[in-house]
Amino acid sequence: KEEKSLNFIEEIIEADLQSGKYTQIITRFPPEPNGYLHIGHASSICLNFGLTKKFPGYTNLRFDDTNPVTEDTEYVESIKNDIRWMGFEWKHELYASDYFDTLYGYAVKLISKGLAYVDDSTSEEIAAQKGTPTEPGTDSPFRSRSADENLELFEQMKNGAFPDGSRTLRAKIDMQHINMLMRDPILYRIKHAHHHRTGNKWCIYPMYDFAHGQSDSIETVTHSICTLEFVPHRELYDWIIEKLEIYPSHQYEFARRNLNYTVTSKRKLLQLVQEGHVHGWDDPRMPTISGLRRRGYTPESIRDFCDRIGVARRENMIDVGLLEFCVREDLNKKALRRMAVLDPLKVVITNFPEGVTEMCQLENNPEDDAAGMREVPFTREVYIEKEDFMETPSKKYFRLAPGKIVRLKGAYIVQCEDFVKNENGEVTEVRCTYIENSKSGHDTTGINVKGTLHWVSVADAVPVEVRLYDRLFVVEDVASEEGDFKDYINPDSLHVITGYAEPALADAKPGDSFQFLRKGYFAADTESTNEKPVFNRTVTLRDNWAK
Ligand code: ATP
Ligand code: MG
Ligand code: MG
Repeated sequence: KEEKSLNFIEEIIEADLQSGKYTQIITRFPPEPNGYLHIGHASSICLNFGLTKKFPGYTNLRFDDTNPVTEDTEYVESIKNDIRWMGFEWKHELYASDYFDTLYGYAVKLISKGLAYVDDSTSEEIAAQKGTPTEPGTDSPFRSRSADENLELFEQMKNGAFPDGSRTLRAKIDMQHINMLMRDPILYRIKHAHHHRTGNKWCIYPMYDFAHGQSDSIETVTHSICTLEFVPHRELYDWIIEKLEIYPSHQYEFARRNLNYTVTSKRKLLQLVQEGHVHGWDDPRMPTISGLRRRGYTPESIRDFCDRIGVARRENMIDVGLLEFCVREDLNKKALRRMAVLDPLKVVITNFPEGVTEMCQLENNPEDDAAGMREVPFTREVYIEKEDFMETPSKKYFRLAPGKIVRLKGAYIVQCEDFVKNENGEVTEVRCTYIENSKSGHDTTGINVKGTLHWVSVADAVPVEVRLYDRLFVVEDVASEEGDFKDYINPDSLHVITGYAEPALADAKPGDSFQFLRKGYFAADTESTNEKPVFNRTVTLRDNWAK
């Protein structure tokens, strides 16, 4: 692989290490456990963990669990599982909720310094006080409370004396500040809610801005990387750290990664799950890591994708075609080749004896010599794809048609002699003769055939359920469309069919990936059993979207 130039965050880090500002770096991946990780998170994971693979230091996993209402331990477990599956291991598993006592102490410190106050204003009143980007804000009538009164009230807030929403703790900065976020931001709110880790201990919870930077600081994170929407928060991040006189972590921002024809917002993905538009977070149509895994994506392909899209300073839309390219590249090297007919048409080889099974040797993977060979049974009756026969072929049609010859992959050359139609005019059977001495590997006929078809012996065929997926949304940039995003769901994103597979596919284990010759890459589903094999199409062999 050619050496890639450093991205802008790597450049910053390299400079910091060279100047001696740091001898090692500490990064963190900070998911909120309110949903499953998606492909955008994969980008952030690869960035944060990748930096400490490249430079001395380590990466923590920190659950940003300061919002009790939407969070759950199910999500915690899925997040850990997905990160490990991606191939990364964190140094420390941490929870922002473990810092609730420390954060409370920090708040008391700010109050004591006259830098925070308890506000009795309603949320509407606070919003009105904030002003607008072009007009200055106005001071809250509670802004000039004494430190002692504030300390007393804040303690009562903690002790549950007040109902939800009746009071907040606000930083005392500047209601005229040009950065709206610096106009006395809320630091704590009252919420009598059960938290998945701290239970009912707390009824006040810190806001993102009073938890994230402080958690970074407690963990001595050197480079706290987040997405661009947090650029205006950086000033507040630095202000709080400075006033608290705690370890100065620094925030750096990169562009969110958006994938076309899908949504990458946990809130929207949750809606798809809850309203039954998909069959769960790991539905193979979902852009979640668990959905991609079930679909047959490999960790290597997702890492390669993240690597190729890199780190940008400006938001843009990434073509899902690139993700598909990456998985094709990887599976081409790894996936065993198998034959399965998805839309069967019976072929009878009239000069092949009845009741005889002849074994054919086929390569498991031409890209991998170590993969070896397998035996596939050949008999008088085989299935081919319906699309591989045409009654009146066009000029460039090199598959089966009356009088034409093709090779059945790994077996014989056959010639079409005749075909049978039903009363609707559909072809139901093709009749061929095979050419002796034409068997693959022992072909002495010298005949040059243009087409090779995959096939499955009727007598040995294993019925398999095959799930064919299409994009989940019909528009490229879902978020920018008018109205409800669910209006743009593709009503036709899943087709379930029964195919006929060669016997070896009966032994597939959930998660195993195969290339079905000429049909694409397929992974055995989590629901797949030897009695009832189920395969998900990961991706077609070629990108046929452009057409
Ligand atoms: P969502 O909008 O899906 O809820 P989020 O940013 O609120 O996303 P978090 O759990 O807070 O989700 O994200 C954890 C980390 O992953 C954060 O550092 C966040 O910046 C990053 N991240 C989330 N979505 C993306 C994305 N689309 N591209 C790049 N990084 C992302
Ligand atoms: Mg977040
Ligand atoms: Mg979120």
